[in-house]
Amino acid sequence: MTQAWFVEKLVEWIGENARPFAWDDAFDEPRDPYRILVAELMLTRTNAVAAEAIYERFIAKFPTLASINGSDSEVAKLFEGLGLKKRASRMPELFRQLANEYHGIIPRTYSKLTSLYGIGPYVANAVLCFAFGRAVVPVDVNVIRVITRLFGVCHDDKKRFQVFVNGLLDPYVDPGAFALSLMEMGALVCRVKRPLCEKCPVSDNCAFGSL
Ligand code: SF4
Repeated sequence: MTQAWFVEKLVEWIGENARPFAWDDAFDEPRDPYRILVAELMLTRTNAVAAEAIYERFIAKFPTLASINGSDSEVAKLFEGLGLKKRASRMPELFRQLANEYHGIIPRTYSKLTSLYGIGPYVANAVLCFAFGRAVVPVDVNVIRVITRLFGVCHDDKKRFQVFVNGLLDPYVDPGAFALSLMEMGALVCRVKRPLCEKCPVSDNCAFGSL
């Protein structure tokens, strides 16, 4: 399977099958890094449907980073609605850091993003990919499942896996469209139990599907 064929199939599939979500307008040009960051923070260890209602309430209350100014308890309370208290408690500090140390501008480098309170590799890569168009794939559980099944590779070495997935990117295709196609494929088709291989656009070349 050539890389171009693989990417083309998946991006074509996402073009026809993307689910609409409340954060979609953040991806319209010019992209809104703040809203993309909020969405990705909420999507960490939470499914998209559950995160959507909280995201809508959060953005209605705090449409910009500047509008958060001093609202620590409200920020934490909204994030608590996602069910993870520890993550929620980190959010006020994160937004304070962004306001005070970065003058309200979301940083554009992995090292700066991961130096922020509560931002790990997934969220940093998601912001770089979706907000800034960087050639990096944010690796979540759905991406891991699709790639390990499709290519028959293992995920034991996280760094090697990240390099492998980044290596699949096509320089002529928006990295965000490719990353989203993998995530949605994992959520809708390449499911944990009973993957819908008969509906999969890349089933002809899947190591798992051909077993
Ligand atoms: S063929 Fe099946 S196992 Fe392979 S990527 Fe598609 S849905 Fe997943």
